[in-house]
Amino acid sequence: MHPLLRILAVWAVLLTHALPAQAVTLLRDADIEYALGEIARPILNAAGLPAGSVNVVVIKDSSLNAFVIDHRHIFIHSGLLLKLKSADELQAVLAHEAAHIANGHISRRFANMRMANTITGLGMALAATAAASGADARAAGALSLGLGSSANRMFMSHTRAEESAADSSALRYMVSAGADPKAMLGVLDIFRGQEMLNVSRQDPYARTHPLSRDRLRAVKALAQTAKTKPGGTANSTYWFARAQGKLSAFLRAPSWTLRRAGSSASADIALMRQAVAYHRQPDSAKAQAAIRKLIALRPNDPFVHDLHGQILLESRNARAAVAAYGRAAALAPTNALILGGQGRALLAVGNPAQARNVLEKARARDFSDARVLRDLATAYAQTGNTGMASVLTAERYALAGRFKDARIHAERAAGLLPRGSAPWLRSQDVLSAAEAQASKRKK
Ligand SMILES: [Zn+2]
Repeated sequence: MHPLLRILAVWAVLLTHALPAQAVTLLRDADIEYALGEIARPILNAAGLPAGSVNVVVIKDSSLNAFVIDHRHIFIHSGLLLKLKSADELQAVLAHEAAHIANGHISRRFANMRMANTITGLGMALAATAAASGADARAAGALSLGLGSSANRMFMSHTRAEESAADSSALRYMVSAGADPKAMLGVLDIFRGQEMLNVSRQDPYARTHPLSRDRLRAVKALAQTAKTKPGGTANSTYWFARAQGKLSAFLRAPSWTLRRAGSSASADIALMRQAVAYHRQPDSAKAQAAIRKLIALRPNDPFVHDLHGQILLESRNARAAVAAYGRAAALAPTNALILGGQGRALLAVGNPAQARNVLEKARARDFSDARVLRDLATAYAQTGNTGMASVLTAERYALAGRFKDARIHAERAAGLLPRGSAPWLRSQDVLSAAEAQASKRKK
């Protein structure tokens, strides 16, 4: 099956039922996603999940939650990520979610969902609309997931049996990953007492992962008897501080960040936080000074150059941004988010042909990044290929659940592209997805 169709068929349906109706904003940042990958890696290994098969993705939401809806993503709210006190606590959260994947809890849910679909009809859908403007969105590079209104929170909720199974698996993963299993207690402590609260006052995590006194007792007993190597590894501790530092620099007030940056875990993280905070004030001169010192400290760190490129592009210095992104891409030639930034900068300097080549590479690695789809459509339109521009626009709308708009652009694309060609087939995929959606609506 075409990857786009697969996304529409599975991810979309799952998301529809998994989340409350409001739009969800993903915070896509190459650095933060890499950091979370480093922290998750030993846990995923211990869970027996193939390397690189599960990505940790941040949702911009100040409430506390982490959840899984498929086998390829662990979602974590920015609120929870900022609230956790150590890499070990984050590993506890990730281990619990990885256990839901490894223990097959998702497949079971998916089976239930198909049944429910026939009863309630399918509301739609996954979306990945282009990043809005605004400080936060421009900051970490956001894209939105617009969700249908028939969301059913119940699909998210795990049973108590699943929760205790996930806890004991998670504690095993933590021990074998060298994380401190007692950190799990720190996490559960955040939500303690919430089972007594009215649902509207609970954190979403407490709703989706029912926490009972029994569960807490069981975790306590297991964590106490587990062999511990406290403190976690140096690698996950560093990346945790960096992810949290960068995320808070983008989400908190710059003054908050500047007061605390000096007490960061390391000099490079301090400079990164300062660069972001000054950029958001905005104080371009101070932001540039901080980023230059940061580059001097870590010249071969692709994400440092990625941040430099982002700051330059957002300060309307596109020419310098092209150079910075070029260095980032040379250091991380397969990173879809970095390639997306490089393509965006190339478009901004009026080089759509080169932008198109770079953005096609980004799309090949992440076909659901709405911002890349939008920029790539622009690049094709500017180089005179309206057929390709239309098919990309159709795909972007389809991913956003806007099937009426998707159909219009897919029909236009089908008329412009050579019949039977690969992009023409993509336009047909969107048309069949729109068709399927329309017939489900009628039921
Ligand atoms: Zn759970």
